[in-house]
Amino acid sequence: MESKVIDMETLIKKVDSEHPDERAMEEAGQLIAAGELVAFPTETVYGLGGDALRPEAAAKIYAAKGRPSDNPLIVHIADFSDLERVAREIPPQARKLAEAFWPGPLTMIVWKSDAVPSATTGGMDTVAVRMPNHPVALELIRKSGCLIAAPSANTSGRPSPTEAQHVAEDLSGRIAMILDGGPVGIGIESTIIDLTEEKPMVLRPGYITPKMLSEVLGEEVVIDPGIIAADDTRKPKAPGMKYKHYAPKADMVIVDGQENAVVDKINELVRQKQAEGMKVAVIATEETTKRYDADVVLCIGRRSDEDAIAQHLYRILRECDELDVGEIYSESFQTPRIGQAIMNRLLKAAGHTVLQV
Ligand code: AMP
Ligand code: MG
Repeated sequence: MESKVIDMETLIKKVDSEHPDERAMEEAGQLIAAGELVAFPTETVYGLGGDALRPEAAAKIYAAKGRPSDNPLIVHIADFSDLERVAREIPPQARKLAEAFWPGPLTMIVWKSDAVPSATTGGMDTVAVRMPNHPVALELIRKSGCLIAAPSANTSGRPSPTEAQHVAEDLSGRIAMILDGGPVGIGIESTIIDLTEEKPMVLRPGYITPKMLSEVLGEEVVIDPGIIAADDTRKPKAPGMKYKHYAPKADMVIVDGQENAVVDKINELVRQKQAEGMKVAVIATEETTKRYDADVVLCIGRRSDEDAIAQHLYRILRECDELDVGEIYSESFQTPRIGQAIMNRLLKAAGHTVLQV
């Protein structure tokens, strides 16, 4: 019998993020069409894509990520008309929001059509849909001829990947290809808005804020109370939001308060941990970086530059793992526009441990 050689190395293909190479995109599209998994850049984070309408592809995604199969996948589309294929009906709000924010970092939850297998939606009757604003992602959807189910391309529980290298670290050998389009622009996952509730409800904060959404909709947008509660009394509606997530391996504490008090407190805590023989990291802004005496001080960006903070957050959490630190102290980043989205991720990474000074 002829034996087939299986190449266990995942293929990393560099592609231009603005004008991706036709041949590479065709190859990647064919893999998706054949039921394989391909990781690709989007403007938010890297996604792990498979054919959204094929249950076996969803099963492969869950297996590769080690993701619980009750945690539904977002379906990525390239044209608004694709929404008609996956939605039972299109709520009028979806048209308004798509016009304002698609392609872009907004995921909408609508009632699902029969075309979407329940494996893709984790057994739910609703489906999450997004049109990504990235030439590589859009071209991959078009070339594959499929709609692409894609969660973030990390091992479940780890920080989401913002560079192709992060994907390789987590998933190499388990997926067919990684399209490397360089570091992503936004760095945190899409805003999720649920349009099946009485009032539009944000299930996951992101780059598009509740204020931006309600301005376009001309109605109130509420925030899922389950994502604000630090305890387990209210469950978040998005199944994925209940899991420990974005977490580095080390324990992490956020220190919040007035700048000088924060710097003093963190330095005091660092000294205590170092006296116990522990390697300690501090996550700080450019303004305060030089004032810390830790083994590793990681600069997340200027305090006033919230886009940079979002963009660097996951890479920095991954760096803490690589540096094998035992404890992480982070400043808090309550920035005006996307601070809620940033803090949602940071709080989860820290298991909601916040020290107020
Ligand atoms: P990720 O794909 O890793 O960015 O995670 C997708 C997030 O969307 C997870 O938190 C999911 O639980 C959530 N999600 C996907 N589909 C639905 C849905 N139909 N209803 C509620 N949340 C959803
Ligand atoms: Mg994820």
